[in-house]
Amino acid sequence: MSARIIDGKQVAAAIRQELQQKIAALRSETGIQPGLAVVLVGTDPASQSYVSAKEKACAEIGIYSSDNRLPAETSEEELLALIDKLNRDPKIHGILVQLPLPRQISESKIINAIAPEKDVDGFHPVSVGKMVLGEETYLPCTPHGVLQLLQRCEVNLSGAEVVVVGRSNIVGKPLANLLIQKAPYGNATVTVCHTRTRGLRNHTLRADIIIAAAGCPNTITAGMVKPGAVVIDVGVNRVEDPQAKRGYRLTGDVDFAAVSEKASLITPVPGGVGPMTITMLLFNTVQAAQKKASHAR
Ligand code: NAP
Repeated sequence: MSARIIDGKQVAAAIRQELQQKIAALRSETGIQPGLAVVLVGTDPASQSYVSAKEKACAEIGIYSSDNRLPAETSEEELLALIDKLNRDPKIHGILVQLPLPRQISESKIINAIAPEKDVDGFHPVSVGKMVLGEETYLPCTPHGVLQLLQRCEVNLSGAEVVVVGRSNIVGKPLANLLIQKAPYGNATVTVCHTRTRGLRNHTLRADIIIAAAGCPNTITAGMVKPGAVVIDVGVNRVEDPQAKRGYRLTGDVDFAAVSEKASLITPVPGGVGPMTITMLLFNTVQAAQKKASHAR
């Protein structure tokens, strides 16, 4: 079998186009333009490029973005003061603080300080709690992006055996939680694996859907995949490659070439889950502005 490749860029472009139309309608009906504040502390090159990509994506579909770049030595109090200001700014509907933060700043204190109605990353305990309870809230962007890919590729989740490899707070745990919800995007039977899991292969071989979010190349090899399974690769890893212009290339957690021969559907890296993450941030920002508009009516 040769797997159909899920084109994350194409799915993301379709969602962004839908969002662009929603933004235009919101602006003409209410005069409200969705606004996202992006906060970056320090000069980490990877974080800088993520932040620039988010701001560019906002501009492309008509979201106003406010760029807040602070020096690496910023204190926790200074950052809390900025969050407070953004919480009260009516032009801002969503606040994104790029993680990781420098050591002198507690990430949980900062996340807790963001007003839940502006928590478009879906990391605030209120958002996480509502997600677990199945209530309407902002869903964390990467897990939401994975759900969108599965839905738009018409993968049937109801009753499916799903194995999630990874249990981080930003990917594995929320994804597993969403997949077990009694909701159209859920109803799966989910196993969560991690580094203490015994016999990972015994679990993955049972799976109708494998979602790899381990951050380690070749965590999923062809011998671990049931023929016809759907394989979603969340991992983004840099591997040295002297042939590549930058001296490295990006790869996922899945042995793509071999696993594509066995799976029915598979995401590539890059070009699979990656483009969906920013798209779902835009989605949450538009949702936040729409909520604000409906409260104002
Ligand atoms: P993380 O915080 O490092 O968590 C990795 C998880 O995988 C941990 O739970 C770890 O288990 C588990 N794990 C690691 N190696 C394993 C192995 N060999 N077998 C079984 N479990 C293993 O990473 P993360 O933030 O969740 O991110 C995971 C990957 O997704 C990274 O490559 C990251 O770059 C990528 N990512 C991509 C996007 C995107 O937009 N495409 C967004 C976010 C993250 P323990 O808990 O036991 O340590």
